[in-house]
Amino acid sequence: MKNFRYLENVSTLLLNRDKCLGCGICMAVCPHQVFAFQEKKAAIIDKDGCMECGACANNCPEEAITVSPGVGCASYIIQTWIKGKDKASCEC
Ligand code: SF4
Ligand code: SF4
Repeated sequence: MKNFRYLENVSTLLLNRDKCLGCGICMAVCPHQVFAFQEKKAAIIDKDGCMECGACANNCPEEAITVSPGVGCASYIIQTWIKGKDKASCEC
């Protein structure tokens, strides 16, 4: 989703390609097409498209992905102002 952006250069998303087996699950679950295959492994092709929902990291069987949900999510940040940190979420 190239038109989607929260904040630039703040996503905590990290991928360890050495661990990746190329199963494609991260590509299937990511709502913003942040990953693509490169040389039979996942690669981050649109890091600023990441909304830090955590779906990729939660579903990767090799624990090759890490992300801190909500750190760079503008929705989460705004909700912390309105609802407080305990009730804010990065569900978008
Ligand atoms: S889910 Fe994990 S192992 Fe599978 S392609 Fe993505 S990074 Fe690689
Ligand atoms: S955290 Fe969510 S939006 Fe970001 S790359 Fe993973 S699945 Fe995609």
